[in-house]
Amino acid sequence: MQGESTYSGVACVFVRLTGCNLRCAWCDSEYTFQGGRKMSIAEVGDEVARLSPSGGLVEITGGEPMLQEREVVPLMQELLAAGYRVLLETSGERPLAGVPREVVKIVDVKCPDSGEGGTFHRENLQELTGQDEIKFVLSSRTDYEFAREFTEEHGLGKRVNAVLFSPAFRKDATGARDSSHCVLDPQELAEWMIADNVPARLGLQLHKFIWDPAVKGV
Ligand code: SF4
Repeated sequence: MQGESTYSGVACVFVRLTGCNLRCAWCDSEYTFQGGRKMSIAEVGDEVARLSPSGGLVEITGGEPMLQEREVVPLMQELLAAGYRVLLETSGERPLAGVPREVVKIVDVKCPDSGEGGTFHRENLQELTGQDEIKFVLSSRTDYEFAREFTEEHGLGKRVNAVLFSPAFRKDATGARDSSHCVLDPQELAEWMIADNVPARLGLQLHKFIWDPAVKGV
């Protein structure tokens, strides 16, 4: 189930690619750094069709999917041609100019306390369209102020479909399906956002409130 964007709550097939060139402090997908199995574009298309035969939502994610741009762009084209709504989750560290315009880009701009601040390539702002979304995963007041200032500096509120401020989750979270696992208290974040009238929406990782936060593949 899609859990981290304006598509949150919609059933979604995830195509999760191996490999990432970043190491975010709160990464909950470290299992994607290695392993997986090689599949052709046709095999991936067949698997998506098996899981969701009547169309719907497909998200290409990772890891960092744009590290495999040569293969992932034709895959996205194929999925679009087959009638799927295609989302791409990316850090924006790689160029996004080659992404088909119909694909909804969900760009996770890294904040300072992720340990990967400054990795977003600002040239990619030119590639954003009104259907795309920018997400900031926040673990501190420092991160919040960075996200607020970045949003204002680049006029993101008018540039993209949604700006998402999302509290980081503890990567070892398990058990309770509630906000006690958030590194930054959502209530505190909400109060900051209201006080500053930020043109963003607070996002929670919905799937971690439905299933045990440690469960993968949901
Ligand atoms: S970019 Fe994503 S997959 Fe890579 S380290 Fe950061 S959170 Fe994990």
